[in-house]
Amino acid sequence: MKKYIIREKFRKYDLFILDCDGVIWKGNEPILSAINSINELRKNDKKVVFLTNNSSLSRESYKKKFQKMGLKVSLNEIYTSSYATALFLKKNGIKKVFVIGEEGIYEELEKIGVNIGYDSTVQAVVVGIDREISYWKIAHACRLLRDKNKLFIVTNIDPTVPSPSGEMPGAGSIISSISVCANRKPDINIGKPSKEIFNLVISSYKADPKKVLVIGDRLETDILGANNANLDSALVLTGVTKTYSDKNEIKPKYILKNLYEIFKISKT
Ligand SMILES: [Mg+2]
Repeated sequence: MKKYIIREKFRKYDLFILDCDGVIWKGNEPILSAINSINELRKNDKKVVFLTNNSSLSRESYKKKFQKMGLKVSLNEIYTSSYATALFLKKNGIKKVFVIGEEGIYEELEKIGVNIGYDSTVQAVVVGIDREISYWKIAHACRLLRDKNKLFIVTNIDPTVPSPSGEMPGAGSIISSISVCANRKPDINIGKPSKEIFNLVISSYKADPKKVLVIGDRLETDILGANNANLDSALVLTGVTKTYSDKNEIKPKYILKNLYEIFKISKT
């Protein structure tokens, strides 16, 4: 039997906000050190929330993915950029939008009661990753966005997404083509590195920001996002970032080889 004791410097955190890809799993393979560490954090009454920029899946689909990884996770512990976008629209009284995106966005907007529309009565254009993007979808988004009263809201600006065959175009690539055509930049980015998505988690959990630790594998989204939201962060080297140099402008508070480093582990 192994005994896990949370290291002194991590004991002050009550809420751990974890990125998914590269932190909990790699593609469809769970990262064992993460799964075990999450179970140990929970045993110590720490809250764990999962936060992903990926807007293609709904929270229900993520819940199933967590189950496959051997983790029991409830819906209110999952924040995708789609769900956060839905919360943002609701909070700001936006009731009808044109969407470029996949199932994840459609499902979350529908659940929260935001209508999808195509005509000039929409209040905003919402853009996320869409692997069935077409010339005509881009053209329609641009046509709507020429009206400066309509908000340009994006789920995230990731230039690429990982895939088994290498990096593929992410939401940011689609947003760029709309931006060029409509001659305007997005008004609001919901996902990391924007502080918006972190603020939504903190307000739903009524958490004290000083007691929150953000853990991620990507400096320019997870760590920069935590810095933008004034939260402590840990870079974990199980995903895209393999090494960290102090010369990097984006500075995490901690660097962890894997999540076991949160603990002192002893054999009993
Ligand atoms: Mg990641």
